[in-house]
Amino acid sequence: MEEAAVYTVRGRVAPRLTVEQKIRQAKRLLNVCPELVDAYQVALRRWSGDPALRLLGLPIVTEGHRSAEEQDKLYARGRSAPGPIVTYKRGGESKHNSLPSRALDVAFLLADGSVVWSGVLLSKFARLMKAADVRVRWGGDWPGFKDRPHFEV
Ligand SMILES: [Zn+2]
Repeated sequence: MEEAAVYTVRGRVAPRLTVEQKIRQAKRLLNVCPELVDAYQVALRRWSGDPALRLLGLPIVTEGHRSAEEQDKLYARGRSAPGPIVTYKRGGESKHNSLPSRALDVAFLLADGSVVWSGVLLSKFARLMKAADVRVRWGGDWPGFKDRPHFEV
């Protein structure tokens, strides 16, 4: 077990970012618009300040800005490329494609170092994001295709 990756809450192990992961998180947020970064940081502080939530997993940003080329590659998935459909937006159509990005995607780091996209955790985190800023829209609230890791303003 990596000592830097964990800390304990009342004797139980909770996930924690390594220094490298912290730097990567900060870099991803550099290309995200300030209002969304603020909402994320408020929500993250509330999540981390709640010992029960903290034990479930630690929210991490998996993506902020995404180039139009990267978006087209994602769009191809489940269509001309293998895998499930992950987006209905072509390059330039997603809020991830603006610079700074008006969208970010969230996942959860677990104490064992794995990363999960749990719908239950994402909906809990979505409540904190929407409470932090009413302008935040959650992909899990969209009609039809649910994009639960996705938040945008
Ligand atoms: Zn997204």
